[in-house]
Amino acid sequence: MSQDIRVTVWNEFRHERNDEEIGKTYPDGIHGAIAEGLNAIDGITARTATLDEPEHGLTEEVLANTDVLTWWGHMAHREVDEAIVDRVQKRVWEGMGLIVLHSGHHSKVFKGLMGSPANLHWREAGERERLWVVNPGHPIAKGLPAYFELEYEEMYGEPFTVPEPLETVFVSWFQGGEVFRSGLTYRRGAGNIFYFRPGHETYPTYHDANVGQVLRNAVNWAYQGDRHAHLMKAPNTPVAEAIEAIEERGAKLSAADHAGEVKS
Ligand code: ZN
Repeated sequence: MSQDIRVTVWNEFRHERNDEEIGKTYPDGIHGAIAEGLNAIDGITARTATLDEPEHGLTEEVLANTDVLTWWGHMAHREVDEAIVDRVQKRVWEGMGLIVLHSGHHSKVFKGLMGSPANLHWREAGERERLWVVNPGHPIAKGLPAYFELEYEEMYGEPFTVPEPLETVFVSWFQGGEVFRSGLTYRRGAGNIFYFRPGHETYPTYHDANVGQVLRNAVNWAYQGDRHAHLMKAPNTPVAEAIEAIEERGAKLSAADHAGEVKS
């Protein structure tokens, strides 16, 4: 690849500053740990952005230069500005990849793109999670064993109220007995979306080698070189420009002088 995939790692960055234990696990923030893992390999250049930066660090310019956005949020979903949510959604529709992590299932960005509440059952007990690779041929599963375990995780249980995914890559089993579809792919507009379940803030999940492999794989899978800004327009094709010659007939709602107009 001639140019690196440009990733922006977005994080709420509140828990790490407010809780001493979490701060010790992630001294550079969850975003810092994720970006470090992505930057460790050739072909990916990751930068970070956080909630308390102006425009949440997601300016038009930053998003215009982002191929894949990763999203971690939990306690401050409501503080994310609607204008930024709309901006991110528009970029996804144009073809920007989006990787939604753990409690990001309740972010405005994810719920909006799913069109559903994205609810689930949960329990914080530091129990073992076993992630089964249920789609071993999928690019997001590349290089992974048949299953891998995270010794300490929060439990998420079904039903997960999201639309049926395009593909299910991982299914998790938890020590307490629940199961969860923990790696799901979607497409919204031209954009690839991957939801990946692990990543509770009190556990060192983003220091795990297999999780790092999943994130790198997901970035490569979600990446598309082209943006499709034209898909954001709804142009009128005038009668005179129809491919085959046609005559206007019948009633119509739009005035003749609207011909060629673009609906926004
Ligand atoms: Zn959590």
